[in-house]
Amino acid sequence: IDWQEFDLNDVTTSAIRILRGEAERRSVVVSSSQTSRELPVRADRVHVQQVILNLATNAMDAMLEVITTERRLLLETRLTTESKVELSVSDTGRGIPDGQLASIFEPFYTTKPTGTGLGLSIARAIVETYDGEIWAANRPDGGAVFRIVLPLATNG
Ligand code: ADP
Ligand code: MG
Repeated sequence: IDWQEFDLNDVTTSAIRILRGEAERRSVVVSSSQTSRELPVRADRVHVQQVILNLATNAMDAMLEVITTERRLLLETRLTTESKVELSVSDTGRGIPDGQLASIFEPFYTTKPTGTGLGLSIARAIVETYDGEIWAANRPDGGAVFRIVLPLATNG
């Protein structure tokens, strides 16, 4: 692991930059809402970026499966009340059927014809490596939201 201390807001911005072209091709509007304060995390930045890209790619896939007026991908960062850093990735896609919520993080679980089913299991393994947590839920107005929390890096 290439340990670094970096701002979760910065890695989120980098991930959005990487996604932008693909999102445009898929008519997905990407937006972000970030804390004004820094959210320092100690981890391998590339790993955290990979998690964000996996979640965002899934979100865009889920939005291809529905006919909707708007395809929106939102990445939000915040500091939780327990002083952890949180990133949420929410979409206006098809959502996750209740019966599937328990299975989606299993390796090789996929509902896509050419899916690998590895994206979420890798995301969970990475997040757990850094003593974080990841979970999924459906949004009341449709679509899914994935949240990751990581410990806040503090000096001293
Ligand atoms: P893959 O993308 O190759 O299918 P993943 O591990 O990334 O594998 O995801 C596993 C499954 O979880 C997907 O096939 C899909 O059924 C479900 N899933 C993941 N993200 C979302 C999402 N944002 N909305 C709806 N379903 C999702
Ligand atoms: Mg995937």
